[in-house]
Amino acid sequence: MEQFKNIFIFLFCLRIVIDFSLKIINFRHLKKNAGRVPPMLAELVDTQTLRQIDSYNAAKMRFGIFHFLVKNILVVLFLFTAVFPVYTSWIGQIPLPYYLQGFLFFFIIQGAVWLIELPMAYYFHFGIEARFGFNQYTRTGWLFDCLKDLLVNTVIMGLVVLLVLWFLGTSFSFNWTKVIFGWFIAFALMLSFNFIFPVMITPIFYRLKPVTDDSLQGKIAVLVARSGLKIKRILVADESRKSTHANAMFSGIGKYKTVILFDTLVNNYSETEILAILAHEIGHGKRKHLLKINTIAAFGLFCFILFAVYLLSNSIPFAAFGINLMYGKFYLTYLFFSELVAFFVQPIVMQFLQKFEYEADAFSKQLLHQGEPLASALKKIIIHELGNINIHPWYEKIYYSHPSMIRRIRALNG
Ligand SMILES: [Zn+2]
Repeated sequence: MEQFKNIFIFLFCLRIVIDFSLKIINFRHLKKNAGRVPPMLAELVDTQTLRQIDSYNAAKMRFGIFHFLVKNILVVLFLFTAVFPVYTSWIGQIPLPYYLQGFLFFFIIQGAVWLIELPMAYYFHFGIEARFGFNQYTRTGWLFDCLKDLLVNTVIMGLVVLLVLWFLGTSFSFNWTKVIFGWFIAFALMLSFNFIFPVMITPIFYRLKPVTDDSLQGKIAVLVARSGLKIKRILVADESRKSTHANAMFSGIGKYKTVILFDTLVNNYSETEILAILAHEIGHGKRKHLLKINTIAAFGLFCFILFAVYLLSNSIPFAAFGINLMYGKFYLTYLFFSELVAFFVQPIVMQFLQKFEYEADAFSKQLLHQGEPLASALKKIIIHELGNINIHPWYEKIYYSHPSMIRRIRALNG
């Protein structure tokens, strides 16, 4: 337990080395294969597009590496120097009730991260995305979205922090009732987000409308009926105000199952392609992927709460950090788990998620009696989105929640 700080620093450095090396390996892989097109895409990708794909992905990777370095240097400077204990005790001296101090503790950190991220996000949208024709944001529209993002996150963070501080009190000793009770509350909160998300959060960022095209709407109704899945709503989101990126997603559980199609998808893809993508999303519902993801998350939450209750019932681990206030201790525990433990578990979770994508693709193929429409949509996505066609296999395994388009097309053709 006395070694907690050392273990923290060791794992933190190990993560940086692994994470950074993989980013470099992936970048070099892209550079090495620049100009090479996988045979199945040979007809689709011309030299001009290929050059665009390579330079877009290289630009995003360079930006990703820069972002990674800035973030990690700042975290190191904040956590492992005197800044963190000084900040924590400064909050502790503010004449406010304990809960408000806790809220302020997290709010200032969140606000600072938001401010640091702001110029980088600006460069991403108005530098990289604009250069390749993806950005549709006006500067005001973008800033407004960033502010909404901060507001939504503050509300969610505030809710969670108040609940956590109420649950933890100022000090306690380890007991299993606490673990089970804490897990129960966290689980209930997580489940309720499944309902809240499509109904309350998505509409904050998008104007949502039903499908207006009569022909498409009719075909969608037939497809949904044939699939046998009860979907509450299929809505079109106005992504075109933000970017030209096309996407579709499945959200909500139980009676609130919702499929969201970006207008950038509906307007630029053929009816058959849209239906194939919709069938893929229905596949996520039919194969109960959200339920399975929730089960994995519930298990993750249990591990986190067990770990947190165990660690927080002991003051020794935090002594080396010079921290004795509960919100400071909780923040460290949370970071240790979310940044370090989660990083090393991530490849396992990604394998599950990638398997779900293959299953949803297979469902689309089964529902439409052919894989061609989805394969054609995926190929179109590569071209329209300038998707990386030369991802390093290790990088794909560890970081990608979706298998690469090429693997998916291959599976559909198989
Ligand atoms: Zn999917």
